Amino acid sequence: MIALGIEGTAWSLSVGVVNESDVIALLNDPYIPKEGGIHPREASQHHSERIAPLLSRLFEIVDKNLIDLIAFSQGPGMGPCLRVVATAARLLALKLNKPLVGVNHCLAHVEIGRWKTGAKRPVTLYVSGGNSQVIARKGERYRVFGETLDIGIGNALDKLARHMGLKHPGGPKIEKLAEKGRKYHTLPYVVKGMDFSFSGMVTAAQKLHDSGVAMEDVAFSFQETAFAMLTEVTERALAYLDLDEVLLVGGVAANKRLQEMLKVMCGDRGAKFFVSPKELAGDNGAMIAYTGLLMYKHGYETPIEESYVRPDFRIEDVVVNWD
Ligand code: AMP
Ligand code: MG
Repeated sequence: MIALGIEGTAWSLSVGVVNESDVIALLNDPYIPKEGGIHPREASQHHSERIAPLLSRLFEIVDKNLIDLIAFSQGPGMGPCLRVVATAARLLALKLNKPLVGVNHCLAHVEIGRWKTGAKRPVTLYVSGGNSQVIARKGERYRVFGETLDIGIGNALDKLARHMGLKHPGGPKIEKLAEKGRKYHTLPYVVKGMDFSFSGMVTAAQKLHDSGVAMEDVAFSFQETAFAMLTEVTERALAYLDLDEVLLVGGVAANKRLQEMLKVMCGDRGAKFFVSPKELAGDNGAMIAYTGLLMYKHGYETPIEESYVRPDFRIEDVVVNWD
């Protein structure tokens, strides 16, 4: 079977096609703000202008008559962006007369990670712009064992970068700066039970910058603190659930220092460490296509009447009836 997937929960507009063994095509046309952060209305306008040309390009690579189903990211995400994606997906499903499958975006990150790395029963650390969650399967559901109480780690890195005059996306720029950082400055380490928070840290790091601390040292201190928090919670989930695999997914998964910290922790515990391939770690259409295919093969289909967008869609809401 062949599935087409559309992703567009936030800044990334992406369409992908997969068959049962691999990704066949993946095209991206991201919204990149000229200044400041991601504005939902501007992002959705970008998506609505670009989705048709992007699909046309895709159909030059893949024969649309070969597609068996249309999958789309139904949530969580920014409402205006989700509506563009859902509208395009409904139209395509009706036009091609193929089934529609609404996919939970977080679930898609986990499933494509498992597919492409071979991780079986991992504790997944999902770190992206808007989300930061520690997820593991328990029975017929994925459960969130810990998550951010305010903003996602990617968003936190972007905010700090913006404050220091660096353009969006800030995560990779902070990573580069941090490599040259030498002096660690204490920042609030906020882990509450299994949850964590980043917004206070961002304010404190911004103040460090304002007080004249070198950008390299601010970036270094921020990464060391934030990534240690994420690693601590991931380790506790691993211990509590008695699992022996960690899977890192999401746009921030590209960060080498975060990978290194998790690798060391896994090494100490005798656990295996996996990270999604870069082009499939961030928001992308292939993960939606793959998860849609998986769900369809296990009896899922979303009738048009139920294809409304779900900005607060939780991964726990999906019953997982596959291995
Ligand atoms: P996503 O929402 O999953 O597409 O991920 C986007 C986020 O990943 C943005 O906040 C980026 O700043 C962040 N990001 C991308 N590359 C890196 C990196 N190398 N280190 C840290 N954050 C990154
Ligand atoms: Mg994401």
